[in-house]
Amino acid sequence: MYELEKQQLIDCARNMVTNNLVVLSGGNVSCRISDEVFLVTPSAMRYENMVQEDIVVINAKGEILEGNRRPSSDLKALLYIYNQRRDLNAIIHTHQPYATAVGLITDCLPACLTSIIDTANDNVRVAPFTVSSDEGMGILTVEYLGDSKAVILCNHGVVCVGGSLEEVLETAVYLEEGSKAYLAASAAGTVKLLSKEQIMQEMEDRGNYGQF
Ligand SMILES: [Zn+2]
Repeated sequence: MYELEKQQLIDCARNMVTNNLVVLSGGNVSCRISDEVFLVTPSAMRYENMVQEDIVVINAKGEILEGNRRPSSDLKALLYIYNQRRDLNAIIHTHQPYATAVGLITDCLPACLTSIIDTANDNVRVAPFTVSSDEGMGILTVEYLGDSKAVILCNHGVVCVGGSLEEVLETAVYLEEGSKAYLAASAAGTVKLLSKEQIMQEMEDRGNYGQF
C-alpha cells in the first residue's frame, strides 16, 4: 500500500543527498498519511539503494503496520512532533553542515535573508543539545519551533516541518543556502539584520504573490 507516497519519500530522501543536506544514510524523512498512518525511512540504509518495500509504515504509537526494516532511530521524536503538531504532514531531519555550523556558534539564525523568511517564516532557533534517538529531540523541536518551519539542533543537525514533503525539502535547501551566506557575512563583518516590520512586509508580499 501507499506506493505513490513511499516513492515520494524516497525521492525526497535522495534529494537530501544531492543537495548536500546529508551523506549516506544520515537523517530521515517521514510523512503523515492519516492520524493513524505514517511513513518513515528505515534506519541505517543508504538512500541510493532504497526501494518502496524498505519504507516502514507505522501507526501513531510507533507500531509497525507494514515493512520488514527497522524504522528510523528518531521515530519516537518524530511521533512526538506529529502528535503535538496536528497541522504538520511532513518532517525532514538533516545533518546539513552550514545550518548545523550556525548552531555551533549562536542560539538563533536571524531571518536576515528573504529566502529564510520565505521558507522558514521566522528566525530559526537553536535548540540545546539532547541525545539523538530519544523523544527529547522531539520535545525540544516542538518547543523551539515557534512560528518557524525549522529548528537547528545544537551539535546535531536540523529539523524542518511543513504540510508536504516538497515544502520541507524546500525549507531545508533554502535554509542551507541562507546559513552559508550568514556564516560568510559573520566571518567578514557585522551582519545587517531586518526589523520585525521588514520581515512582516516580506511575508505579506510573498503571501500576495501566492506562489514561487
Ligand atoms: Zn540526526
